[in-house]
Amino acid sequence: MAKFTVEVDEKTCIGCGACTVTCDNFTMEGDKAKPVKSEVDEIGCNQEAADSCPVSAIKVTKKE
Ligand code: SF4
Repeated sequence: MAKFTVEVDEKTCIGCGACTVTCDNFTMEGDKAKPVKSEVDEIGCNQEAADSCPVSAIKVTKKE
């Protein structure tokens, strides 16, 4: 089964919280977002969250 890594670039994140609304795999830690799980079996809502991030701080990568 494909696995994906989910990362938030903390330097880029502006703390808007959009990803936490779009996807329950994101949570706020202070004024920055972070993935609840940084490795997931299903891409699920993670790509949607990445697409909805206004500063493109979320990277979802398929692991080979
Ligand atoms: S949507 Fe992007 S900028 Fe907003 S909290 Fe999430 S990672 Fe940060």
